[in-house]
Amino acid sequence: MQLGIIGGTVVLGARTVPDCSIAIDNGIIQDIGPKKRIAKDYKFDDEIDARDRIVIPGLVDTHMHSYQVATKGQTCDSELLKWLRSYIFPWEGHLSRKRARACAELSYIEMAKSGTTCFSDFTSTRFTDEAFSVAEKIGLRANIGRTMMDYNAPKDMLEDTVSDIEDSRALIMRWHGRCNGRLRFMVTPRFDVTCSDELLVEAFALAKEYNLVFQTHAQENLGEVAFERKRFGVPAIKHLNKLGLLGSNVLLAHCVWLDRKDFTLLAKNNVKVAHCPGSNMYLASGIAPVPEMLKNKISVGLGSDVGAYGNYSMFEQMRLAVLLQKVHTLRPHAMDHHTVFSMATSGGAACVGLSKEIGEIRVGRKADLTLLDKRSLAFSPLHDVIAQVVYSAGKVCVSDVIVDGKVIVRDRQLTTINEEKTIRRASKALVS
Ligand SMILES: [Zn+2]
Repeated sequence: MQLGIIGGTVVLGARTVPDCSIAIDNGIIQDIGPKKRIAKDYKFDDEIDARDRIVIPGLVDTHMHSYQVATKGQTCDSELLKWLRSYIFPWEGHLSRKRARACAELSYIEMAKSGTTCFSDFTSTRFTDEAFSVAEKIGLRANIGRTMMDYNAPKDMLEDTVSDIEDSRALIMRWHGRCNGRLRFMVTPRFDVTCSDELLVEAFALAKEYNLVFQTHAQENLGEVAFERKRFGVPAIKHLNKLGLLGSNVLLAHCVWLDRKDFTLLAKNNVKVAHCPGSNMYLASGIAPVPEMLKNKISVGLGSDVGAYGNYSMFEQMRLAVLLQKVHTLRPHAMDHHTVFSMATSGGAACVGLSKEIGEIRVGRKADLTLLDKRSLAFSPLHDVIAQVVYSAGKVCVSDVIVDGKVIVRDRQLTTINEEKTIRRASKALVS
């Protein structure tokens, strides 16, 4: 199947090229070049007329929890540990297969329509199959994990170490690598506050065995850090290091409260960080020292962290990330728009172990692309594409979305499912 994107304004690294066409063959970018040449060299099965489109790499959400989308509008004023105890654990305790599926449907529809092509979903301890099944159907590139927790959790949600590992292994067998590698499993112990050392060590070994991303939360909130100091003598990153659990396949969400030693440990072990500025503001967690992470050559991606934020737009997360550092440092150049755009694309790809496959529009990469309507007010007038994507654009600008060479959103409508019917049914399932 050959798909052509014809004559768009295409973002190639830091460059923006007008009248540029992209030839896609079987999900892979085969050629990029002037409209005239591509028209002469290729005959496509399907084409998108992109003369009014800006083409950017698909956005990557490195950290979110689909099942928490149902708590939207109910958790507005809380800090992390209270938010978990008062809202998230009780909701998780009531999760059913039907509700987990409805949450995944609403989450993935919103992400697809917001220009996110790849996500990293930290699901609950149960019903992870539903998330995979919805991702398979909607067509997004998915990294999905099942929460593990065998310590200090509410009684009805406490798991045992063996079932945490064995359930995850069974999910790997059922889903990892399916749909031409579009669906991938990741190993996700919740955080060291609710995990035994034994579980963390075995989870890491499982990730190594299957070459998977190992994702957990770390040093997000001062109450959490105080708990870790009391239990282990040190906060999460040093604790994980003591257990030998830092490595290039490790993705840590948040990393707000870091000291000098933490930067060294993250950099030395090539650990990746999912920065979630909206969540850090929403839960009053603090401001992550992202410019220092980047100075230390640590790979950083962006995460919406829904339900600790109200929507899945990565445009908002880019904007919050860049603005937060300006007000925090009182330096207008603390982090520029190119940096934050890279975090939402190539940085995110590195976080989920796909830096050679997605994150940039390049020959040989997988065709995960987001098309924006150049006629939107955000781009009128058009001066600097990346600056306007970061400071002016929103999900309202997204017109078409391509994942693995397949058009899953065309002219603002999902092509893979009946969007309206699904949203209506899923919303109903979550209020009944
Ligand atoms: Zn999270």
